[in-house]
Amino acid sequence: MEAYTKIINAELKRLEESKTFKYETPLNSPQGGVVRVNGSEVVMLASNNYLGLSDHPVVKEAAIEGIKKYGYGVASVRFICGTQDIHLELEKKISEFVGCEDTILFSSCFAANEGFFPSLTNEKLDFESYKDVFYSDRLNHASIIDGQRLCKADTTVKRIYNHADTEHLRQLLEEDKDKDFRFKIIATDGVFSMEGDMAPLPRLVELARQYNALLFVDDSHAIGVCGDYGRGTPEATGVLGQVDVITGTLGKAIGGAAGGYISGRNELISYLRQKSRPYTFSNSLPPSIIFGAMAAFDMLSKDRSIVDTLHKNTEYFRKEIKNLGYTIIKGTHPIVAIMLGEAALAMDMSKELLKEGVYIKGLWFPVVPRGEARLRAQVSAALSRDDIDRALDAFDRTGKKFGVI
Ligand SMILES: *Cc1c(COP(=O)(O)O)cnc(C)c1O
Repeated sequence: MEAYTKIINAELKRLEESKTFKYETPLNSPQGGVVRVNGSEVVMLASNNYLGLSDHPVVKEAAIEGIKKYGYGVASVRFICGTQDIHLELEKKISEFVGCEDTILFSSCFAANEGFFPSLTNEKLDFESYKDVFYSDRLNHASIIDGQRLCKADTTVKRIYNHADTEHLRQLLEEDKDKDFRFKIIATDGVFSMEGDMAPLPRLVELARQYNALLFVDDSHAIGVCGDYGRGTPEATGVLGQVDVITGTLGKAIGGAAGGYISGRNELISYLRQKSRPYTFSNSLPPSIIFGAMAAFDMLSKDRSIVDTLHKNTEYFRKEIKNLGYTIIKGTHPIVAIMLGEAALAMDMSKELLKEGVYIKGLWFPVVPRGEARLRAQVSAALSRDDIDRALDAFDRTGKKFGVI
């Protein structure tokens, strides 16, 4: 045990020294536009609670009703005795919302992505010999990378294309055109979490058709966020109904509790219910989450105003933070990357901003390229105009203090 401890301590020390150790700051309140930290109220600019549903009375009431009507837990996987009618109902709602034929639920989007790739590639089916290939954006989420790592190395080819570079992707597809691949899958995040930019979906749809590939989009940061109705990047980019496979989380805009899904064609979803290991061998989502998520989708389907508020808040914050003199990555998403350059500056400014009443996280190498350290603000519909103005004032004072603006 001595030897183990020594190695582990050395790595912990290395993380501390390289300033990559991740510290947690406990909140003494629910997630929201304003939260309580160390006894004071601070404006939250770091959560994925884009629509403010994490602590929304309608969602909370629904979750409580879920417990009252269907219990606390299901204590089974779906195919044994863990499917309640409400699981099917939520799957139907998600399918309608994202414009796909069918949907399969997972305990998280991480599990969904890990459950997707190997369930296709690790099955021989009726093929004597075969190979499959992935084309993956360089900045794809860890869960896509890990999902692809679970695929058998001897039969799976992994190709990485430069971030959002559809010409690079086209070249790779062209090189592979005459190779006899069984499954070709283009995989991308719908929205990339470090930059807040959207994948070039219309071109990806074209390339997938032209080269007979399947297009897989992880819309975790986009569901409830992008598009006039919050249906995600396919809505925002005009290709609703044209993406083959969409995955996403219920742990961000859609209430922020937990849960993930894969949506696609009927046969594909039926197949995943048979083959996908995190689905087959892991517990069903509890009724509270099913009810909470259904209430969230119902609210979005009936009323555009929450999504509108998010878009207006985002537009306002983006405009005003630029007016203060900060450099941000252009875009329309509530993820706003405020570029600072040096890691130490991002670290010190995020600490100072917390003292000034703003909760925001800095990102630096190796999470983003060296010299591109930044603060990542995430705007929410839970923020009042007053909350945003208070945050902007803090940015004004802090930026001047550090000589950034
Ligand atoms: C947040 C996120 C996930 C993980 O979702 P969970 O439901 O929390 O596991 C997966 N993919 C992307 C792109 C994400 O942003």
